[in-house]
Amino acid sequence: MSIPLPVEPFTIEQFYKFLQQGKLMAGICQKCTKIHMPPRPFCDKCGSQLFSWVNISGKGKLVTYTVINIAPQEFQDLTPYTIGIVEFAGGLRIPGMIQDVTQEQLKIGMPLVINFDTCSPPQQWPFWQRYYFKSL
Ligand SMILES: [Zn+2]
Repeated sequence: MSIPLPVEPFTIEQFYKFLQQGKLMAGICQKCTKIHMPPRPFCDKCGSQLFSWVNISGKGKLVTYTVINIAPQEFQDLTPYTIGIVEFAGGLRIPGMIQDVTQEQLKIGMPLVINFDTCSPPQQWPFWQRYYFKSL
């Protein structure tokens, strides 16, 4: 019998660790194949705890966005800035800051790509993750 390779835990922390490595990863349920991003310890469809990591393409499209004019103190220097929800292959959606796109250029459905440079200023885990979206 072979010993299974250790698998990174299916936690938000690990999700962000992958992001720091420039990888957008999701957990796929081994039973029902539902993909969770960010990952979770239990499948919300079938209750399974068996997952594998899958790499998700960083290209998506803008689903909705909000322009932030009044920000928490640490982000006041950035205002106005845009927070968007971006949808990736398989209908996976994650929120993030959109940079290098003017408000006039913003359009629902526009293609965006994830960028793994740290967005400035320093991030506060877990809400200000080490990525942002920009236009393709
Ligand atoms: Zn499942």
